[in-house]
Amino acid sequence: THFGFKTVATTEKASKVAQVFHSVAAKYDLMNDLMSFGIHRVWKRFTIDCSGVRRGQKVLDLAGGTGDLAAKFSRIVGEQGEVVLADINDSMLKIGREKLRNLGVIGNINYVQANAEALPFPDNHFDCITIAFGLRNVTDKDKALRSMYRVLKPGGRLLVLEFSKPLLEPLNKAYDAYSFHILPKIGELVAHDSESYRYLAESIRMHPDQETLKSMMDDAGFENTTYFNLTGGIVALHRGYKF
Ligand code: SAM
Repeated sequence: THFGFKTVATTEKASKVAQVFHSVAAKYDLMNDLMSFGIHRVWKRFTIDCSGVRRGQKVLDLAGGTGDLAAKFSRIVGEQGEVVLADINDSMLKIGREKLRNLGVIGNINYVQANAEALPFPDNHFDCITIAFGLRNVTDKDKALRSMYRVLKPGGRLLVLEFSKPLLEPLNKAYDAYSFHILPKIGELVAHDSESYRYLAESIRMHPDQETLKSMMDDAGFENTTYFNLTGGIVALHRGYKF
């Protein structure tokens, strides 16, 4: 049946994603710096600056992986605040927890293994949710966006940092060539895993563009949704509010 087919396809994507992140976890941070020439740090800084998060607030860093955003939020919200680093993959969570402990991030942070499509948190709980380079790996993105909306407080906001569509065609072509030909080679050399980085290139090409993601957020209930193009639209930061 149609339903049966969808279930099989869904499981296949989820297990592919699981396999990819179990495989890359140990080299994840190094690869991020190499593949983006360190620019991912600037994209993440911009996300923090746009979050409006203050001392004492509750933040969910979803698909948080090795915890770059969670570490920054932990410092901002302070002792009275709360940060949850949630990820579906226990290898990524483990590396994230070790890294943050070594950085001295303790006390106001919790680690939760969770699927973005069915968040195990109460309604109206978080002031802010971030999902950085995570949404494109989620099988049912609409379901995940609705789940995020549910656990946000009224007045809270969602920030989605994700690869998007380069604004200019020449950049688009150059970027495609880079991601399909060079990324898998870096993956092979550094992590002995070209397959995972081929998946990465494919998942970037398949991901909804700026306007499509904005409509998806609107459909999930978010209001005042806007986006900022970063690095010529290679990446976009979408922000929407729950009122
Ligand atoms: N946010 C981190 C960053 O920006 O460096 C990690 C991003 S990493 C590219 C994507 C993460 O999404 C992986 O850690 C993966 O396990 C997680 N992920 C994939 N599907 C997920 C899902 N359905 N629910 C929660 N996390 C998921």
